[in-house]
Amino acid sequence: MFMQMCEEKYLRFPEGKCKAVTFSYDDGVKADARLLEILNKYGLKGTFNLNSLLFGCEWRHNRMSEEQTYELFKGQPHEIALHGARHVFLDKIPLPEAVNEIVQNRLYLENKFGRIVRGMAYAYNAYTEEIIKVLPALGVVYARTTDDTHAFTLPSDFLKWRPTVHHRSPEFTELAKQFLSSNPENQLKHRESLLFYLWGHSYEFDDDGNWNVIEDFAKAVSADDGVWRATNMEIYEYVTAYRSLSFSLDGEKVYNPSALTVWLELRGKTYKIEPAQTLQFDK
Ligand SMILES: [Zn+2]
Repeated sequence: MFMQMCEEKYLRFPEGKCKAVTFSYDDGVKADARLLEILNKYGLKGTFNLNSLLFGCEWRHNRMSEEQTYELFKGQPHEIALHGARHVFLDKIPLPEAVNEIVQNRLYLENKFGRIVRGMAYAYNAYTEEIIKVLPALGVVYARTTDDTHAFTLPSDFLKWRPTVHHRSPEFTELAKQFLSSNPENQLKHRESLLFYLWGHSYEFDDDGNWNVIEDFAKAVSADDGVWRATNMEIYEYVTAYRSLSFSLDGEKVYNPSALTVWLELRGKTYKIEPAQTLQFDK
């Protein structure tokens, strides 16, 4: 009976870790500099969603100028991602115009920063099924919504990626405690790996006078060695590589066709599967 309950295969993050944390902050505002400092101080990684036609726009929460934005993010380990060229409701403009919003945003960020930019956060959480269908053709592989799950689950649909919680939410503190005290490896069932996905706008810490909220969380989560710190894109790429694994019909062999090393737990043992490796599980 006990063995049967351990036949399930579980995704483990790099180095066999059971937990991961990622941050997603929008709009490219001046307060991003302070947030970046905190993330760097604690060795955490985040994704910053930037518009490309609103630089220096002060009435929209004090946005950085083009040069400030470039200086802040160049050479950083953090991800920069799309948020539309002009921060408009994509569901309130014609589809071709929405496509142009994304294309112009992507071309700008890629050319300015010399990177490949394939992630996105929907401005105002506005999107339609039509837009979602178009995103893969524009090279966008994931897009974040603002529909908090208040859970630590990995997304089933990366083009409607739901975060755990906004840092302003009354549930944030309790969820953080729950995440930090959880250890899936100690569970008999429900051994799924956990992702804490925090999102928001850095200017909110200025408005609310509570930078301690993010600093306390960053400090606590970085003190936990069992937590993988990753950008949104790194989570996407890793989970996609895991989901691309091929198994023999009896489930006893696995093949990793991806270019990433992937970790998997079966019957209480964690396996490391190298790119192009076929591995037989222990009985
Ligand atoms: Zn925004």
